[in-house]
Amino acid sequence: MPSASLRLAVVGAGAAGLVAARELRREGHAPVVFERAAAVGGTWLYTPPATSSDPLGAAATHSSLYASLRTNLPRETMGFLDFPFAAGAAGSRDPRRFPGHEEVLRYLEAFARRFDLLRLVRFETEVLSVRREDGGRWAVTSRKLGDKGSGEEEFYDAVVVCNGHYTEPRLAVIPGVDAWPGKQMHSHNYRVPEPFLDQVVIIIGASASAVDISRDIASMAEEVHIADRSAPASTCNKQPGYDNLWLHSMIDHAQEDGTVVFQDGSSIKADVIMHCTGYLYDFPFLGDDSTITVDDNRVDPLYKHIFPPEVAPHLSFIGLPWKVIPFPLFELQSKWVARVLSGRINLPSEDRMMEDVKAFYLKLEAHGWPKRYTHNFANYQFEYDDWLAEQCGHPPVEEWRKQMYAVTSMNKAARPESYRDEWDDEHLVAEANEYFKKFL
Ligand code: FAD
Repeated sequence: MPSASLRLAVVGAGAAGLVAARELRREGHAPVVFERAAAVGGTWLYTPPATSSDPLGAAATHSSLYASLRTNLPRETMGFLDFPFAAGAAGSRDPRRFPGHEEVLRYLEAFARRFDLLRLVRFETEVLSVRREDGGRWAVTSRKLGDKGSGEEEFYDAVVVCNGHYTEPRLAVIPGVDAWPGKQMHSHNYRVPEPFLDQVVIIIGASASAVDISRDIASMAEEVHIADRSAPASTCNKQPGYDNLWLHSMIDHAQEDGTVVFQDGSSIKADVIMHCTGYLYDFPFLGDDSTITVDDNRVDPLYKHIFPPEVAPHLSFIGLPWKVIPFPLFELQSKWVARVLSGRINLPSEDRMMEDVKAFYLKLEAHGWPKRYTHNFANYQFEYDDWLAEQCGHPPVEEWRKQMYAVTSMNKAARPESYRDEWDDEHLVAEANEYFKKFL
């Protein structure tokens, strides 16, 4: 088993990389964090509008935030377990319960300063490759921004991957779209509504981004049509409170004359199709020796969504689960990884870990969940969090946080337009703020 004080490479200084670095160091390890951006924050580092040469593609240098984005979780739930994201805490300037994205970045910066993490980060340094060496070490090749050449190779005892999964666009398949003359883009490249003035825009998707962006664009566009693949085929409804916003079933096909036909039979001449269709897991720096593959958004095989059994614990992934409260989950995953690496927690044998992975896949199949939902934790995030917490001897996730998450989901469904400004769980807010006093 590994011993304490390992030299570790952490890829990424977003929320996951920062908390991983803190937990690894707390456990006595020596993490080096590689970050290709010039600052910490990852997703929360907003980049202003620019004309992208590839509006459907990923530009590694910018995140997926749009200017008007406010959090879709209440701030009380969002923060790390021992560093509350409380209004009025260090660096806070936007006291709203669902603040703008700048407030989250300020919070992550405050976290990095508070735990003295900045000096662990090598900024503007991209990891180009991670390769397993004989003897169990990992060769990490990185290159400083602006440097020419093949980069610098260094050796680490283990690698913790925290590179995020909201950068590589996933696109909808639309028959006929190659001949369709309009403009296509992905929500990754959406920033502000002004360029859509007087245009007819089709938004594909039903996620939080699709809901927000359709409303944002409706303030400028002539018409906005949402295509939701989960809506019944006959759906064609004007949305309450809007003159220019419709909900449809999925697009059937697009035509050379600019028309887009929906499965509900209606059709529209559109200027833009915006894919709000999510993202793909992507690890361009990992070679075959990482032992994982990604197929239909399943990162396979991973024990507890973290360790590839064959190379555990020397390669790990923090932050893959979605439909979760991300920061506390990252924190608990990081605590577990740090303790496993120091040998304070033992993993099962490789065979037992593989059995666990296979049993999990069988369970997904039995529930009829598609492969792409492998890391969708909608139904069991707290069960998972509490399992990790128990392994680490940490208390379970607070009851108020669990309740607030559930109540917010219901409020969002009941008041999709106003859940960020109207709620009925003031008693939980009071309980959370009382709880935070011990950390502030
Ligand atoms: P990221 O934030 O993506 O960080 C990954 C980092 O790795 C980046 O800084 C990147 O530059 C770096 N990196 C990647 N590859 C390399 C490489 N090869 N070499 C060096 N560095 C590399 N969460 C919430 O809690 N509340 C919300 O309201 C919320 N809203 C969201 C809205 C949108 C539009 C999106 C896209 C996400 C939202 N999230 C929200 C989820 C959010 O992504 C997570 O909260 C969290 O920020 C993810 O952190 P991460 O560290 O896993 O990834």
